[in-house]
Amino acid sequence: MNGAQAPCPACDDTGWKPIEDPSGVRRVVRCDCWRERTAHERLGDANIPRRYQHCTLDNFLAYNESLTRAVAQARRLVDAFPAAAVGLFLEGQPGVGKTHLAVAVLKAIVQRTGARGLFYDTRDLLRVIRSTYDPAIRTTELEVLRPVLTADLLVLDDLGAEKTSEWVDETMNLIVNTRYSERRMTVFTSNYPDIPDDTDQNALIFRIGARMRSRLHEMCEFIEMDAADYRERPTNAGTDDLITLWKMRKNRNGLPSPRAGGRQARAQLRDNRADLKWPGGRAGS
Ligand SMILES: [Zn+2]
Repeated sequence: MNGAQAPCPACDDTGWKPIEDPSGVRRVVRCDCWRERTAHERLGDANIPRRYQHCTLDNFLAYNESLTRAVAQARRLVDAFPAAAVGLFLEGQPGVGKTHLAVAVLKAIVQRTGARGLFYDTRDLLRVIRSTYDPAIRTTELEVLRPVLTADLLVLDDLGAEKTSEWVDETMNLIVNTRYSERRMTVFTSNYPDIPDDTDQNALIFRIGARMRSRLHEMCEFIEMDAADYRERPTNAGTDDLITLWKMRKNRNGLPSPRAGGRQARAQLRDNRADLKWPGGRAGS
């Protein structure tokens, strides 16, 4: 199993090591080398996008109260897994770090427990399921759905981004309800705020429907993340820069109509960027 390396001294590469419990009974338990190897394989199978693979709880920069609260809750969930009864619903504007935190939870749980974890962007998942209806595609719908329904921990990123339809509703309800009734943990992220107004096109309830929303409240703790858009940050941004950007964003959001006020908001952004002494634009990666 180690290739050319020497066999594991604890288990001689069997994956089981003998222990003696306090009452003097000898038995075998899983060796740490097995757990590490399993976790490594399962992380490789978790479908985490390349640009999020570096994300951990330790490298998540929590520079305000909402972010600190979100990380603390994420850590509690990791520590409690698999006993935790509820998952997480991370909501907030684009770029606040929801996907980073969701991936960090997924990785930490897989690494600690060897659980089967799976990541999907919600729109991607629906696209893949839809593609199986094409007779030329040999994968069946069930082959795509089975791991989604049975993963010990599922991350569904960017919920509500898909335009709703009867098929989307049915498919999403199947996934969510199955996981709920099997008590499997799910972590969701969404850009759409959980406000009660179902006529507001940007409200979560408008995007996913009342039935799904109420189910999500039963199976998740909702956490609002309020922060800067990391994609707007200058290269080598420090915490102070992020706090400044976050405050600018709050001001922008406070305008009577953020969309109609686009020009004004952009002008303000330009002025604030001058204060920050950086030219703006996307940070290089
Ligand atoms: Zn071993």
